[in-house]
Amino acid sequence: MRSRILAAALLALAFTPAAHAKKLAVMTSLSDLASLTSTIGGDRVEADSLAKGYQDPHFVEAKPTFILKLSRADLLIVAGLELEIGYLPPLIDQSRNARIHPGAPGYLDASAGCEILGRPTQQVTRAMGDVHPYGNPHYWTDPENGRVIARAIAAKLSELDPAHKADYDRSLQAFETKLTAKDAEWRKKLAPYAGSKIVTFHDSWPNFAKHFQLVVAGQVEPKPGIPPSPSHTLEIVNLVLGEKIRVILVEPYFDLKTPKYVADKTGAAVVVGYPSVGGTKDIPDYFALFDKNVDGLAAAFGGKP
Ligand SMILES: [Zn+2]
Repeated sequence: MRSRILAAALLALAFTPAAHAKKLAVMTSLSDLASLTSTIGGDRVEADSLAKGYQDPHFVEAKPTFILKLSRADLLIVAGLELEIGYLPPLIDQSRNARIHPGAPGYLDASAGCEILGRPTQQVTRAMGDVHPYGNPHYWTDPENGRVIARAIAAKLSELDPAHKADYDRSLQAFETKLTAKDAEWRKKLAPYAGSKIVTFHDSWPNFAKHFQLVVAGQVEPKPGIPPSPSHTLEIVNLVLGEKIRVILVEPYFDLKTPKYVADKTGAAVVVGYPSVGGTKDIPDYFALFDKNVDGLAAAFGGKP
């Protein structure tokens, strides 16, 4: 009797479906990429990001735990365009994980296929500290780029885990259907303000602005990655007054001192704009990211608090 139970148990074990096999360990640089990976991968993946959504994605402080996390990863997804140049390359080396090296199957550059704005037309240099030398790396703030990224993630997960391709395809389809519906909702909310000019702190918003028909007239930073200077701040005050700009959009990780100074001199409103999932507690996923920013901007343009 006992041996029959044992045999049955062994048989059950032998036919345990691969669903109980180890999950794919996915590390990403950005919380947005981790969120999209979880949406597509569901319970087949364990996705985690190095940068938190409330941190400046250009200047992430490397922690020893990052190396451990990378050493265990089956897949590393990055924004590319040198967004991670300040911290990630040495961590990849130190992880001693050949699976996730650039060019390996476990490395995915999410910028491929996305609409990248501000690509340089001349030879690139990082002179003057410009941290966008290969074009704007904040491209995930356009939901259509989010769609491209989700497709790339689904394809990559299917490549690494072909037994569950149908699951990834189904999740992608559900994501795209919801994205299309939500995007119509977002566009409708901002449609009354089409063509409105805004000033932003960092050049994080060109893709978002283009998609929602807003115009970024200038940045509080003299160049991406360079802190405000008195002479540039004066230019911004004059720009906001001259163009009657009503909104200064500031990422949550920048000092509000200069934006508030500009607001005081001009009457424009300072609005916190969240570039990433997790930028604040009520942005748990990629859809909530746009819900939050669209509502914040619509309220500011509409003159509500
Ligand atoms: Zn940037």
